[in-house]
Amino acid sequence: MTSYKELGLVNTREMFAKAVAGGYAIPAFNFNTMEQMQAIVQAAVECKSPVIMQVSKGARAYANGTILRYMAQGAVEYAKELGCENPQIVLHLDHGDSFEICKECIDNGFSSVMIDGSHLPYEENIALTKKVVEYAHAHDVTVEAELGVLAGVEDEVSSEVSHYTKPEEVVDFSTRSGCDSLAISIGTSHGAYKFTREQCTVDPQTGKLVPPPLAFDILAEIENQLPGFPIVLHGSSSVPQDEVDTINQFGGKLPDAVGIPEEQLRKASESAVCKINIDSDSRLAMTAAIRKHFAENPGHFDPRQYLKPARENMKKMYVHKIVNVLGSNDKL
Ligand SMILES: [Zn+2]
Repeated sequence: MTSYKELGLVNTREMFAKAVAGGYAIPAFNFNTMEQMQAIVQAAVECKSPVIMQVSKGARAYANGTILRYMAQGAVEYAKELGCENPQIVLHLDHGDSFEICKECIDNGFSSVMIDGSHLPYEENIALTKKVVEYAHAHDVTVEAELGVLAGVEDEVSSEVSHYTKPEEVVDFSTRSGCDSLAISIGTSHGAYKFTREQCTVDPQTGKLVPPPLAFDILAEIENQLPGFPIVLHGSSSVPQDEVDTINQFGGKLPDAVGIPEEQLRKASESAVCKINIDSDSRLAMTAAIRKHFAENPGHFDPRQYLKPARENMKKMYVHKIVNVLGSNDKL
């Protein structure tokens, strides 16, 4: 049994309260590799931002859960070494799908877990979430739950269609489950292909796809029902078109990759939305830098030669999100 407190991590409680009151959102960046972890910490320290480092089932399968936990511990020490006296770093389980996996993470030093019962019937979702909340709160770990279903594919989480969260259910769900934050479905979507061509319009200037707007009316009604309650948006990468273009220019093939426009995420950040999940944008930033590097330096074979620009490009993207989209800079 390792408490996250011994590792210097924090839970989300105070962080979310400040974010809701301050009209900004905390970045929740997924990580699988050392380079991602370094880039996240460098960006958070430079911008004086709290940050959530999150681990999906796919990340645990790829990198090993124990290694990722030690990397999060390393992230805290690295932040201090970079001059941050009091880093606010959360280690969060993304899309936990059972009580057992949540318990295992809590016992191994995670400071926050998500239990995703959104695919279950309503009453079963409440019962599963409540069970996780009881165990987590006994260890001062915070719990994110999900109500409503997002479309798209993210590691092993996938759904063909989305079901918007029903505002009339949120009070009952959050009260009875005891969750600390609630992930909702208002039109965001997992992955780098969030919308089909049919769902989008085409910008006549650029020929690029313009996705349908988020359901801000549903978000407003949820806020009405649950004033001040921390709301989470999954699937909120914006799929930067300059990165997609770089990938395609240097041998990649990502036709019609499209994400959530940043001005909509900025608007959401100013509401009770206090955690915004970003994963695909990091993948795109890394891949764009590596493809470009290989094309321009065909003789390179030392991974440090191409992982360094990949790390720099991810850091640039993280800084941009913190400062220009989420507004979580200068909050430490
Ligand atoms: Zn998600």
